[in-house]
Amino acid sequence: MPFQKQRPFAHKGVASGGVTRLDFKKDDTVKVISGRDKGKTGRVLRVDRYSGKLLVEHVMMIKRHTRPNPAKQIKGGIAERESPIQASNVLVVCPGCNKAVRVAHHVDIVAGGKTRRTRVCRKCGHALDTK
Ligand SMILES: [Zn+2]
Repeated sequence: MPFQKQRPFAHKGVASGGVTRLDFKKDDTVKVISGRDKGKTGRVLRVDRYSGKLLVEHVMMIKRHTRPNPAKQIKGGIAERESPIQASNVLVVCPGCNKAVRVAHHVDIVAGGKTRRTRVCRKCGHALDTK
């Protein structure tokens, strides 16, 4: 199973508890910049902060040989599915300039004196978190 909760640095007393802060969110479009699927783009399906990996649609496809399990309505055979890719091997595709870009952060002050980090395109300044 991909995405088991692993906390690789938990024993080292890291303040974040082994959780990596990633600049990716579900439904982002990302581009692969390194590895087997270099050049592909896809939608982020899942983000795993424990392993620092992402599940990206149609990227890092693997073949799973599955046994049929009639009780769970699973057909046997060879199924293709995504496997997690290291977050450092992908970049966010900016909807403003349509390029794979690195991400800057803006710190906004919300009502009540609280701060909020939002992601911004480093090239054109387009806000990536529009909510
Ligand atoms: Zn941009």
